[in-house]
Amino acid sequence: MDYYKFLCPNKEGTYKFLSELYGSVAAVEEIDGIHLDYIRFPDVILAEGLWDKYGLVMDQEFPEYDYCYCDTCTSDFKEQTGIAIKEVEDASQVQEWKQFRYDIITTMVGRLAKVVHKEGKEINAAVFPGPSIAKKLVRQEWNKWDLDAVYPMNYNDFYLKNPEWVGTIVDEEVRAVEGLKPIYSGLFICPNPENKTQENDPENHGLLPSEIGTAIRASMENGATGICLFTPERMKPEHWEAFEKAIYVDYTKE
Ligand SMILES: [Zn+2]
Repeated sequence: MDYYKFLCPNKEGTYKFLSELYGSVAAVEEIDGIHLDYIRFPDVILAEGLWDKYGLVMDQEFPEYDYCYCDTCTSDFKEQTGIAIKEVEDASQVQEWKQFRYDIITTMVGRLAKVVHKEGKEINAAVFPGPSIAKKLVRQEWNKWDLDAVYPMNYNDFYLKNPEWVGTIVDEEVRAVEGLKPIYSGLFICPNPENKTQENDPENHGLLPSEIGTAIRASMENGATGICLFTPERMKPEHWEAFEKAIYVDYTKE
């Protein structure tokens, strides 16, 4: 896939690059905080809604989408566990190897959080849902990350789920951080509501005006601190109308 390129998060140079960049941005007086995105490994499993688009069936891990097997990662892992991962027949079955990659990202976030906090600013991140899905697809064990807030991309259409599912996953997310950090439920908006049923590319799916209220209610009733629109430019007047109705409701349970 040419869509993106990744840096190995286990290289000191990657940390240096990110910490200098984020540190310098966080030092700017007017900046309130740093928001991390793509802080993950490439998708070892693609969300089910994207399989058709890329002509793939990713019902399990395949080696060609599994990272990172650079010398730094494989030798660090060998040192920690004694396992030579390149010699293992099916690396997807080695739990320690999954954990090793979760930990690399967790460590990176922790180090970046220190840099940002030192400037007296906040740090948060857009993550995959769960973290059950986040761990499985992109190795984000984000419940362990040192963040001030979490913005999970609860994009139900990517997982072929209905808007009610957003509530189910928010429930998991709030529990995963033991209610100690705000969860802002990230919603995905359908840019052309009238074409959704004929549209094959899930990038063009998302919540319809008739669904956005359900996704907001389900998020808030399950403990979200708020919701987040990553793609506000996709909102049609009908979306905004339904949105305004939904956000002023009192969702606190009696
Ligand atoms: Zn590596």
